[in-house]
Amino acid sequence: MYCSLQSNVFWLLNPKPSAKIPKFRSRRLETTKSMPQAERPEHILAGAVQYSKSERDCKKMKFAVKAWSKSGRARVGLLQLSSTSNSFGQGGPPAKEIEIETPALLLTTRKGLPAFISPDHLSSLPSPDSRLLQFSPMHFMEGPNSKTISTIGGVHQLLGLHDYGFFAVPRDSILSLPECSSSNKNGASFETPCGRFLVKPVEYMKMISSMKPDLYVSLADEVHASVTVKRNKASVDRTIRWLDDCISLKPTDGALFGSIVGGCSIEERQHCAQEVAKRNVAGYYIGGFGLGDSVDERSTLLHAVTDLLPKEKPRQVCGLGLPEEILQGIAAGIDLFDSMYIYHLTLGGFALIFPLDGNCKHVFNPQLSAMASDGTKINLKATIYRKDASRIVDGCNCYTCQNHTKAYINHLLNVHEMLAQILLEIHNTHHYLSFFRLIREAITEGKFEEFRQKFIEKRRDHLLAASFSTCDLQTPVRSRA
Ligand SMILES: [Zn+2]
Repeated sequence: MYCSLQSNVFWLLNPKPSAKIPKFRSRRLETTKSMPQAERPEHILAGAVQYSKSERDCKKMKFAVKAWSKSGRARVGLLQLSSTSNSFGQGGPPAKEIEIETPALLLTTRKGLPAFISPDHLSSLPSPDSRLLQFSPMHFMEGPNSKTISTIGGVHQLLGLHDYGFFAVPRDSILSLPECSSSNKNGASFETPCGRFLVKPVEYMKMISSMKPDLYVSLADEVHASVTVKRNKASVDRTIRWLDDCISLKPTDGALFGSIVGGCSIEERQHCAQEVAKRNVAGYYIGGFGLGDSVDERSTLLHAVTDLLPKEKPRQVCGLGLPEEILQGIAAGIDLFDSMYIYHLTLGGFALIFPLDGNCKHVFNPQLSAMASDGTKINLKATIYRKDASRIVDGCNCYTCQNHTKAYINHLLNVHEMLAQILLEIHNTHHYLSFFRLIREAITEGKFEEFRQKFIEKRRDHLLAASFSTCDLQTPVRSRA
């Protein structure tokens, strides 16, 4: 029983890429081995719109906190972006303003588009929730060079997505992994499909200048949780120094988020947060999570950082993606999440099913739990869905659930048709964006703490029940008596 439970919990908390990415080397590119807030009296700050005052960034991005949870940490905000997609004389459509409520999920992309969703289907996702796209500039190292992208007019023009905001983050967990053992004082090292790169701040900012994202993160030296105290300290010093370099090289467009690292050391994280908070940045990127850190210490580390950051500026985190992790981050005051969770689910043939009615009741079905469901998601590869003519989620209004059955997706998965992943990514993205909407509503209504508590309790109960059921099903008939 406990093995099964631990296995479920382990997968839940440690999603891994299902396939290894082949590594290619490129000779033409450089390679190397080398208040106390809890005392806040009101949970709603009606009309308390205080935009960040960074003069160079406020033209591009505005952020305002609209409501706080009772604990004074979780908050609902409004992020406004003035698209510059037509500010380069490329003849595109007029610039539009994008408004996104936070806490929000950045859609993870590969070179600007979600892995399996075409531009045609992007518009079918909940809007404006889906209008902030994360991408890694490192993905473009094997593609058109910076000068070509700059001539075209940046990522908006390159992809033809003028109504979307682009957020450049120099990290993801699939194609451009930080390779801290090869980073040095000059730059950060990344392992990518086209080789290992040492990226210096000046080179990174050159990429940013050519791509013209709406938002971007400063170059960071993100390290694994197991590094020595000395190496962790060095990563903080480098990240602060590189932030200064990025600020000095900053182009006129795009809002800069300052990177905060420090591994599992509260002191180093606080030191980094204090230093970054002194700089002229539009927001904060809290990095170094999902790199071997313990789930138990994460809340303490997050709180240590967010308590020191100005409340009027947005905070983003990378490496938290599971529903419980999202709730943990929001409880610490995080506004934006950058995660590969949906991608990994989709690639594995999973579909999210947890209820979105606010009651967080996880339907328990012993047969399903033993074979293809953990209460949050179902595995549509399972034989049990071969003749299942129902939708993934009754009442879901996504394209997939409106048009297709579990049986069809099961068939597509079994014959290795990519349409399976397309349909799954549409549903999973739709479902997870709806989860974020539900959280925002809970915060606004002053019920976030109850919402989080209920969700976690129901999940724990379900996993316990599932593990009992699995144990029961695996027990020989003779022993059951
Ligand atoms: Zn759906």
